[in-house]
Parts: sequence; structure tokens; C-alpha cells
Amino acid sequence: MTEEQQKGGPAADLAPCWSCHGSVDQRASFCHGCGTIQPPRPVDHFSRLGLSQSFDLDTDQVERNYFSFQRHFHPDRFATRPAREKQLSLQHATDLNEAYGILMAPLSRAESLLALKGAPLEDEGAANRDPELLMEAMEAREALAGAANSEDVEAIDAQSRQACDGCIEKISQAFADDDLAAAQRHCLRLRFLAKLGEEIRRRKGELART
Ligand SMILES: [Zn+2]
Repeated sequence: MTEEQQKGGPAADLAPCWSCHGSVDQRASFCHGCGTIQPPRPVDHFSRLGLSQSFDLDTDQVERNYFSFQRHFHPDRFATRPAREKQLSLQHATDLNEAYGILMAPLSRAESLLALKGAPLEDEGAANRDPELLMEAMEAREALAGAANSEDVEAIDAQSRQACDGCIEKISQAFADDDLAAAQRHCLRLRFLAKLGEEIRRRKGELART
């Protein structure tokens, strides 16, 4: 153990730069010594965008961080760099895109947070064990199938969007209360509502063609 590690210093988080072999803080994307781009670290999506692990994210902040981080890895900056550096910049850009996509959408953000808290959302089967949700799904699909014109579908759509907003509020409250079981339950419902939204769009398309 080095002296720095004994003192609880940052040594544990240091890794050698692949280019100059100097020590780099693992959180750094570029070597402090030679400035060369480093491989992305396997961190969660929140940390990737410099955000705290919370459901109630300020999406403007998510956007600001995303664009400011993404700028460092713009292909123009690597146009004259060796292939390995180009490839690493692409990896960073891809990871940032993924984190951004996941954190901007409430459902995937909640799923990501549940997984980080050790309570990942189960697959389809879990929704089928919730009788209330099953009933809601059945009624919504019956209503959609019975919709005769676009006004009917618009009404179902408006109702479904309202249900989505209410559901997101409940997820937020569940995380605030650290009630992961409730967060899971509301997430399953939001997942259903997202699917219903797709079905509504499909139905709108069908009616528009007739
Ligand atoms: Zn270096």
C-alpha cells in the first residue's frame, strides 16, 4: 500500500494513462499529463452526466450537462488524432447519448434508479400479478378497440396522458419516501401506460387512413 492510500488519499482512484503511463484520476476523461483521451469508466447513467441519483431531475440541467460533456468528444476534435483516440471519443459520445436518452424519459430513469437501489423492475409477468392494473389495461384496450372515430381516440389519449402525469408524480413520491415497492408498482403501471400510448398512436394512424 502506498503512503497516499494509507492516508485515504486519491491513489485508489488512479489508473495509468494508456498513452504516457502517468497516473490519471479514473473520473477524468483526459490525462492530466499528456492530455490524451482515456477510456470511459463503467459508471451509472447519473454519474455519467454529473448528476445525483435522483428521480426528480431538472431536465434543463440534464440537457446542459449532456451538451457540455458531449462537446469534448465532438468528432471534429479528433479528426487528426490516431484511430484509438477516435474510437475512444466515439465510446464516450455513445455512453453520453445512452445516459441522456435514459435519464430524459421518466420510465427508463425510474427503472435505472430502481436497479441502482437493488430493486430492479421485473419483466412482464409482474404486471400480470396486479389485478388492478390488469383491469385498467383491459378496460383501456376495450375502449380503444371500440373507438369509432378520431374524437374517441383523442379522448382516450387525453385520459391516458393525464394518467401518465399522475403516475409519474406517484413514482416521484415513492422515491422521496424511499418506498421502493411502491416505486416498482407505479413503474409497472407507467410501463403499461407507455405501451397504451403506442397503441393509441397506431389506432390514430389507422383511423387517419380510413
Ligand atoms: Zn497521459
